[in-house]
Amino acid sequence: MKPSIGWDKIINHLHSFAFMVLESQPGAHALMLLGGGLILLLLLFLLFAFIVVGVVFLSIKQGKFYFPRLIRAGFAYIEGTIKNICAPFGLKEAALTIFFIQLHNKMSEGDFAKTEIKDRAIFLPHCLRSLECPASLSEEGLFCKHCGKCELDRSVTELEEMGYRVFIVPGSTFIGRMVKKYKPRAIIGVGCLREIKDGLKFADGLGVVAMGVVNRTDGCVETLANWPELMKVASLQALKV
Ligand code: SF4
Repeated sequence: MKPSIGWDKIINHLHSFAFMVLESQPGAHALMLLGGGLILLLLLFLLFAFIVVGVVFLSIKQGKFYFPRLIRAGFAYIEGTIKNICAPFGLKEAALTIFFIQLHNKMSEGDFAKTEIKDRAIFLPHCLRSLECPASLSEEGLFCKHCGKCELDRSVTELEEMGYRVFIVPGSTFIGRMVKKYKPRAIIGVGCLREIKDGLKFADGLGVVAMGVVNRTDGCVETLANWPELMKVASLQALKV
């Protein structure tokens, strides 16, 4: 027969311990210190969150990025809290995500421009292809057959002629695999808002310079990329002096 755990005894011991701590002066003092420390931490956390939100609002209003590193740290560690504070002020999640992507691009632009095109890669989402696409999925994504049924045809050719390694992929698993295999130093990710935001964080984790270009339409099939914006980012190069 299994020995009884003796929960009653454990609870009684805990009660006695709590009384002992509360009744002794050093114990009560230690508890007060602990409580005070926790409240201070909470206040500092809220102060940081409100400062980040204030800077985000100011940046959006002025069309400039103030204290970009502070905002980026805020998004990295307390994104949920920032969203909750912003929501009652009318700043919705999508607007915040767009702001985060623009900020990320601005901060990465210099390093991206300095990276030679041969060391860059572009990841396009496979939802851009036509529903009648004759290409099939391989380990490295979709190899466009240039059938002319979607915009990928001309754009992939143009980007490859610029010297880019171009991938048409169904998700981040492929991106991670291709980054490990080909080791690009900089990448451009194309996709919907959430894909880009997650992709930028993913690339940060891999230590790769990343720029994001958000699609003109959302959805899972026959989406439309913002090709002019993509070409603008793809053409970024450091000025040679
Ligand atoms: S152009 Fe390429 S990606 Fe587009 S439908 Fe044809 S084979 Fe598929």
